[in-house]
Amino acid sequence: MRHVDYFSRNPLPPSIPKSIEKIEPKRVDVTELTNNWLLAEQQLDSDLSKLISDINDNQLPDDIAKTYEIRSGILHRRIQRNGRTRCLPILPRSLRWSMINNTHESLMHLGWEKTLEKLYSHYWFENMSKYVRKFVDNCVTCKISKTHTGKVQAELHPIPKLPIPWHTLHIDATGKLSGKNDKKEYVFVLIDAFTKFSLLVYTPNIDSKNSIRAIKLAISLFGAPTRIIADQGRCFASREFREFCDKSNIQLHLIATGSSRANGQVERVMSTLKNMLTAVESGDRSWQEALPDVQLALNCTHNRVTKSSPLELLIGKVARPLDLVTAVDEEPVDLDQIRNHASESIQSNAQYDKARFDLGKAKLVKFSVGDFVLLQNEERNQTKLDPKYKGPFKVIELLDGDRYLLKALDSRRTYKYAHA
Ligand SMILES: [Zn+2]
Repeated sequence: MRHVDYFSRNPLPPSIPKSIEKIEPKRVDVTELTNNWLLAEQQLDSDLSKLISDINDNQLPDDIAKTYEIRSGILHRRIQRNGRTRCLPILPRSLRWSMINNTHESLMHLGWEKTLEKLYSHYWFENMSKYVRKFVDNCVTCKISKTHTGKVQAELHPIPKLPIPWHTLHIDATGKLSGKNDKKEYVFVLIDAFTKFSLLVYTPNIDSKNSIRAIKLAISLFGAPTRIIADQGRCFASREFREFCDKSNIQLHLIATGSSRANGQVERVMSTLKNMLTAVESGDRSWQEALPDVQLALNCTHNRVTKSSPLELLIGKVARPLDLVTAVDEEPVDLDQIRNHASESIQSNAQYDKARFDLGKAKLVKFSVGDFVLLQNEERNQTKLDPKYKGPFKVIELLDGDRYLLKALDSRRTYKYAHA
């Protein structure tokens, strides 16, 4: 009981002297945060209340004064961010911790950048990025659940990108996740190539029947896409899946196994998803229960490439997660503007990825016909104890796009693989 001993010998001071003004962060129940509360806390914040009276008495130089606005008594700041002008209420010191915590948790522990961008759609305060970054860096739940993501290999042979929502859908499946009684369960992830809108579909098995069910669910929301991009996983390369796409007049584009990496966007979502599910699991809910909230968190937050959230690009409205409390209404979204912006950004990002990949390409040692190679086992077919590689296989043909036709030594099966 050393700590008890410590306290008895070092009693706390009776009270902190009143003369030192100390701002105690208030642990407010943010579900009750109203305009009135924001108004009251701004008045209690010495810096903000001084600013408000300076503005009311015309004490500020014009160029500074015009960056502020008082709406219904609440001090707002005009800011420019990601090509948009916003007028945001200034968060007083006492509410900052609670609001960041609320936002970060309502986003299922997404990273600091997304937490920051979400906060930027509702509030502003000075040094907000620094504060948010520090907060998330110190979040215990994040610390224990996030894996370090290595560099994502850049795009090999980009598929043309069209600025049309729900035109091209990527489908992929997560690796084995824990289920009831140690049974393995999975999630199908469908991602719209333009808006990056993700649909997460729980599945007990990765097979043709369930992958068709997932696609049908997606179709029930926004209609049939023009094109589906999948890897050559057994469920997508199956006859049933092909026939379903044919019949539904959807082009099915199967990319060589291993070059699903080529799709940096999908890879990024898959790795974020994995971290989020782990973060959820360390809480009091199962990942299966939390799946709809995880999906919304992915869709209502800023995307690094498009500079908007998937839902904004899709439905033209700022989307608010259930547990995120905001005192003011969201600003309207200029849909044409953000879609144009996203389209340009996607194009330049693809060019950048390609250039970066081509730079590293010189280091790629190409195989020749007759070489023996090992294949890295796909994560989804793997449990922790499985070997990381299988093979050897013989290279029997060189295909375009740095892909190879391989043949197993013990059977007649052939496989198409990208150089990884
Ligand atoms: Zn966290």
